[in-house]
Amino acid sequence: MSSDQIVTHPTAQSGRLANKVAIITGGARGQGESEAGLFVQHGATVVITDVLEAEGMATAARLGCTFLRHDVTQEDDWAAVVATTLEMHGRFDVLVNNAGIFPVGGVLDTTLAAWERVIAINQTGVFLGMQAAGRHMVTQRAGSIINISSIAGLQGTPGFHGYGASKWAVRGMTKSAAKEFAAFGVRVNSVHPGIIDTPMLQTFEEISPEIRGAVVGRIPNGRIAEALDVANLVLYLASDESSYSTGSEFVVDGGWTA
Ligand code: NAD
Repeated sequence: MSSDQIVTHPTAQSGRLANKVAIITGGARGQGESEAGLFVQHGATVVITDVLEAEGMATAARLGCTFLRHDVTQEDDWAAVVATTLEMHGRFDVLVNNAGIFPVGGVLDTTLAAWERVIAINQTGVFLGMQAAGRHMVTQRAGSIINISSIAGLQGTPGFHGYGASKWAVRGMTKSAAKEFAAFGVRVNSVHPGIIDTPMLQTFEEISPEIRGAVVGRIPNGRIAEALDVANLVLYLASDESSYSTGSEFVVDGGWTA
């Protein structure tokens, strides 16, 4: 990890995440950025990681956290992120597996390469993250891992076959890891956002504005969520307030799947 990939700020001492160190993947923008900002406000020391270096550095400088360049599909990158976090802070308590992509493609038109890419980022990235963080947290005998799935991990999502497969996998992997880690004081939960206003939502604009309109029309509470709507839930799961929740699905979808 070269020094120009790192922006650092001092540790905060108060708040719902006081004295906790958190790693958030895909934190350069969108939901990860919102979670990082909220975590810092609540006293956490935060490391955001992403493949977007310029955006990640700028976000870290703005929020008061550290940025590390990290491709979640790469085992060596995970080892470097964990090693650098431990060198800087001596421990970490929270991992948010948030990085993801949302490629269009149904069963009939998804190429093998497109399938392998979405599985690599959205599913294998979460596996590698739980393994890298789990080794540290199990030894530490404390920790909270939050895996960002989707409503696409709760129901069928025609036209987004690889995405749906990856998000269902994250939901199942969360439960298995939760049972494996429970005796060591390490919790693992999945979060299932509905339609959230982030750069990812531009996928619908690329398909057609009418589809975006139809999507909004299906949300019972009538609005697309802000990233902060998800971040507030993730904050709860990162904090000790959720100490009895593990292996559970937390839905934040304005009633979509009700
Ligand atoms: P976003 O596109 O704004 O953010 C995703 C981030 O992940 C980006 O910064 C991107 O660079 C990063 N990323 C992509 N590939 C990566 C890789 N290989 N290694 C490291 N980082 C990588 O979208 P978002 O809405 O903030 O998405 C966050 C999570 O929420 C994703 O897992 C997504 O699937 C999930 N989600 C989003 C919505 C929505 O409507 N926006 C709904 C449900 C679930």
